[in-house]
Amino acid sequence: MSTTLDAIANERWNAVLSSMRAEVGEAAFDSWLKPMTVRDVADDGVRISVPTRFMRDWIVAHYADRLASLWERKVDIFVQSDHGTTDGQAGKPTAANMQTNPNVNPNVNTGAGPEFGNVIQPVQSGQQMISGLAQAALDISAPLDPRYTFDNFVVGKPNEFAHAAAQRVAESETAQFNPLFLYGGVGLGKTHLMHAIAWRIRQIDPNRTVIYMSAEKFMYRFIRALREQNTVDFKDHFRNVDVLMIDDVQFIGGKESTQEEFFHTFNALVDQGRQIVISADKSPSDLEGMEDRLKSRLNCGLVADIHATTYELRVGILQTKAEKLGIEIPSKVQEFLAHKITANVRELEGALNRVAAHAQLVGREVSLESAQDVLHDLIRANDRRVTIEEIQKKVASHFNIRTSDMHSARRARSVARPRQVAMYLAKQLTSRSLPEIGRKFGGRDHTTVMHAVKKVEELTERDAGFAEDVELLRRMLEG
Ligand code: ADP
Ligand code: MG
Repeated sequence: MSTTLDAIANERWNAVLSSMRAEVGEAAFDSWLKPMTVRDVADDGVRISVPTRFMRDWIVAHYADRLASLWERKVDIFVQSDHGTTDGQAGKPTAANMQTNPNVNPNVNTGAGPEFGNVIQPVQSGQQMISGLAQAALDISAPLDPRYTFDNFVVGKPNEFAHAAAQRVAESETAQFNPLFLYGGVGLGKTHLMHAIAWRIRQIDPNRTVIYMSAEKFMYRFIRALREQNTVDFKDHFRNVDVLMIDDVQFIGGKESTQEEFFHTFNALVDQGRQIVISADKSPSDLEGMEDRLKSRLNCGLVADIHATTYELRVGILQTKAEKLGIEIPSKVQEFLAHKITANVRELEGALNRVAAHAQLVGREVSLESAQDVLHDLIRANDRRVTIEEIQKKVASHFNIRTSDMHSARRARSVARPRQVAMYLAKQLTSRSLPEIGRKFGGRDHTTVMHAVKKVEELTERDAGFAEDVELLRRMLEG
């Protein structure tokens, strides 16, 4: 065992490096491999130091195996700072120990070459370091909408689980479930919940670093970093973040190198016990163009979906928003809007704003007539979305019965149950009234429809398989 590098080892190292350079390309080489220093060569292995933990994680994930096979020795990568303090274990530095004792923090950027200088200056005290890191995070994090807070989020059946999970994440110091994966259709509150998490964390502990950004921006920044050959800076943004939130991750479907980068950023943070929150329009398994290993990673934590709004939630949202706007909306108008604007919360908000603006403009109170008048185009669009006939056809084929059984008088469970599901979906997805729906199902009474709706609600509570069936149908019809 020798502590200084002899000539043979040195030559060997240079050969390994030039092979690596040829294999990985100039940019990656400069970012990752150049900063390595061989500290020790022995028969049983080579010890290589790098300046930061993030680099170590990255090199271990990407290059260590290759280095080992080129050198034909076991390769051990560790973090070494100027002070000679090394870090072998992967404990999460908490905000507290970062503050009180910056020297034990393996991420202190002391072995920095010039390429590190732009992001985080060498620091004297923990406090300064945190603000430097917080600044780096702020630089890359998208601005937060001040309206998107937990206080402004109306909770109902379709979103209560996602809401509870989001609150839990915001209020815990350690990662609860990694990642928290929020998914649901457009305009149902995913972005709102993510911003709410960020606001709440900042409120509880301003020293915690939170990055919120869209997957699109993540990709854009990554590609720019590649082009400008400063992927180290890019990675530095993430290396000390406490909570990373990436919105609309479906966007990187099919974008391989971005997925690769995301995957490794993701793993590095999860390994350090940092919290990750992801949103998408589909469940992890249904994401298109996504690598399997990424899908399964995304599935590992807590997956919470936000369902389509219910009538009750829509009314609740309208009441809350009207109050915030300081306008009086008669309950008849609220009911009307909640019945007619069923697509998502964004449209519902838009409708309310239009009705309110109109009322202000003409200086008259909101009425049913004026609301109908102002919103006729929106309402037509919503009505066009799904017809009862489509629902009947889809449901019938899903359960393998004839569409005509939707109208028939047969009461066998095998046809009665699907019929009830179709009635339930008709109530959920169209703006038809109960009597109207009854008429379309072989002239049944509105109480039959009411009963069907109750029955289906009951069954979805009790029977997860059934609930899944209904949910699947709803998504197919809405899609
Ligand atoms: P997504 O990201 O799922 O497409 P957003 O979070 O952008 O949807 O929500 C769309 C709009 O609807 C936002 O203005 C948001 O504030 C509002 N919104 C959604 N869900 C709720 C809710 N439960 N309570 C209050 N506002 C909501
Ligand atoms: Mg969104």
